[in-house]
Amino acid sequence: MMKNNQMIDYIIEYSFHNRIGAFLDYPHDKNIRFLTMTCGGCCGRAVHRKLTNFLRQSRRKEKLPKENIVVHFSSCISFESFHGTPCPFKDYLENLVKKLGLKVVHGTRINKLTEERREKGIYEKRDSNSN
Ligand code: SF4
Repeated sequence: MMKNNQMIDYIIEYSFHNRIGAFLDYPHDKNIRFLTMTCGGCCGRAVHRKLTNFLRQSRRKEKLPKENIVVHFSSCISFESFHGTPCPFKDYLENLVKKLGLKVVHGTRINKLTEERREKGIYEKRDSNSN
């Protein structure tokens, strides 16, 4: 049985696997891997430690270059939705990731109903520069 957050992980992985939502631009024929992590709770400071650890391990194990790594912020961190307003620490988190020399993309799964509500003005529209 899956816990609620595991189900969310599945839905995001599904979007990634099928290259939909914010993953649209990744080619299907490339061997691209996928890893999820949480912010660790407000204010998201743990992101720096978690990514530093990930970078150390991936460098040691397979010399993964930083240019090959992209950090996606989940849609509920990035945009207004039924979850609520975007994360109030979004800019802080983005700076932490960029300090490590990694690229940030806003969004993961893009829910159709939520997108319709953004069009109707129920939720704030997604910033076109944020993807
Ligand atoms: S509000 Fe932002 S920093 Fe706080 S727990 Fe949610 S995603 Fe993490």
